[in-house]
Amino acid sequence: MCCLCQPEVLPEERAFFRENYPERMIKTRGPDAHFALAMKKGCGSCVFLSDGKRKCQVYDHRTAYCRQYPFHLYLSDRVKVELDMSCRGVWTGNGTDAMAEAKDIVAKADRRIVSTLRESRAVYSQFYANCKEAGILSDQSILRMSVSENLSNFADLGYLSKVMELSQMEPVMSLSGVQKEVRPDMPELEIAARESALDSMATNDPLNAPVYCDPEWNWNVFMAKDENIVWNILTDSGDLVQKGSAEASEIPLKPLEEDGAKVLADYIRILNGRDSFMGSVFSLIDYNDYEDDMANAYYGCLSVTVLDLMWRASMLDHFTKCGMGAKGIQEAVIFYDMDRLDAPAIGAFV
Ligand code: SF4
Repeated sequence: MCCLCQPEVLPEERAFFRENYPERMIKTRGPDAHFALAMKKGCGSCVFLSDGKRKCQVYDHRTAYCRQYPFHLYLSDRVKVELDMSCRGVWTGNGTDAMAEAKDIVAKADRRIVSTLRESRAVYSQFYANCKEAGILSDQSILRMSVSENLSNFADLGYLSKVMELSQMEPVMSLSGVQKEVRPDMPELEIAARESALDSMATNDPLNAPVYCDPEWNWNVFMAKDENIVWNILTDSGDLVQKGSAEASEIPLKPLEEDGAKVLADYIRILNGRDSFMGSVFSLIDYNDYEDDMANAYYGCLSVTVLDLMWRASMLDHFTKCGMGAKGIQEAVIFYDMDRLDAPAIGAFV
C-alpha cells in the first residue's frame, strides 16, 4: 500500500536518485512542488516496485517516507505519531513494537519536525485567537472525553441522526443527555453518507482516487462520475482493469452487525485521539468563517465521518460481499483510513 503513495525525495536523498536513476525522480507540479519518485504510467505504484513480486528494487536507498509508513507524523502545536490503519500489517499483531518504532521515526525526522513545528504552531495560535474572538473556542480534551464516553453510541444511526440535528440547531451543543432517534430519517442519513463518500471518489485521476487493498493484495480503485461508481483493479504495471460498476443510489446504507459495531467503535476511539482529525475539524471551522461552535463542528464532523465509513462498508459489501460484521468493517477501515489521513487539516504532515 505504501508504494502507491508517491514518496517525496528529501534534499539529502536526491543525489542517489539523480546519479543512478535520473529519469525516475520527478518534480511535482502545483503550489507545493517537490521532488518525488515517479509512478508507473503516472498513476500506478512507484516505479521501483517490481511487477509480480512487489519488491522494492532500491530497498537500501528507499526514501524516509517509505521507511516511515505506516506511521504519519502530524504537527499541530505538538508532535503526534499516527498509525495508518490501511496497512494490512498493523492488523496482524506481528512485527516490531509500534511505540518503539514511532519514537525512532520521530528521532530520525527531528530536523524536519523542528522546522515545520515553528510554522504549524504559528498557524494554530492564529486559529485559537480567531476562535476566541468569535467566541467559539472549546476545550479539546472535554470534547474528546465526551466522545470517549459515547463510543458505541456513535456507531448507532439513531444517535448519529440526533447529533447531526443538534449540531445544526443548538448554538452550543453538548453530548450529555442526547437520546437516540428511535426512527431516524434514513433517506436523509443515506444522502449525507453517500455524498461524503462520493466526494472523495469524484475524480478521473486514479492517483487521487481512494484505493482499497483487499485480503488478496489486489489494489481496488473506486472512481465516481456523477452518481456512477466504477470499480477498477490497478495492476502491478500501472493499468486499470474495470471489474464492475454501480449506481450509488442503488447501494443502501446497510445495518451493522453487533461485532461490526464494536470494530467501528474502536476506530472511532482512534479518530477521537488523532490530532489530524481535530485539525481537519479546525480546517472546516476556518473554511466556514468561524460560524460554528467548536463542539458542534467536532461532533457534527465525527458523525459525518462515521456515516461516510458506514456507506463505504456498504459499498464494499455490495462489490465484494465482505459483510457488515467485524470482518466487513475492518475492511472498510482499511479502505477508508488512507483517505482519512489525506484529509485537509490545519497543521502539517511531515
Ligand atoms: S522506493 Fe521502494 S519502498 Fe519506496 S515506494 Fe518505491 S518501491 Fe516502495
